[in-house]
Amino acid sequence: MAQPYRFNWNDLGDLTEGRPHLGNSTSVQSYRLMQFTFKQVLCERFGREQTAELFRAAGLLAGREFCRNLLDTGLPPMDFIAALQQRLIDEGIGILRFEQTDLERLHFVLTVDEDLDCSGLPLMGETVCDYDEGFIAGVFEQYLGRPFEAVEIDCWATGGRTCRFEVRAMPL
Ligand SMILES: [Zn+2]
Repeated sequence: MAQPYRFNWNDLGDLTEGRPHLGNSTSVQSYRLMQFTFKQVLCERFGREQTAELFRAAGLLAGREFCRNLLDTGLPPMDFIAALQQRLIDEGIGILRFEQTDLERLHFVLTVDEDLDCSGLPLMGETVCDYDEGFIAGVFEQYLGRPFEAVEIDCWATGGRTCRFEVRAMPL
């Protein structure tokens, strides 16, 4: 029987060789097309709650790997935050700002403007950035070495003009 798949950063491929003309770029539309069609198919199979959980779990893995492979986890917190903000812009993921930063209690409120997953979506009456919730938790988790939870409290899809997340360390 085939082995279960385990993500490896190298699986993202060599884009210099593989896409000499198109490079490391695609449209937000095509990214969202994949994400929202996955969402429908997974919802049909597993229901909405389980689908949100799957997106969150995949986002968590992505956040950890993103942090491990693209960021310097040896930086002190404020430098790390600055590097994270820049990287998220460079990757076209979003414009990250910290509204509250409590390094003692490990509690943060942050916003992501022009979010890759949801900025510009029609009103849906609920937050849709389950993947982002996982992604943000994964970055914090990888950097600080303990589990985190991120909950989206405002979203473009609920009428916000930004996505706002409350991030906290999980009790050990
Ligand atoms: Zn959102």
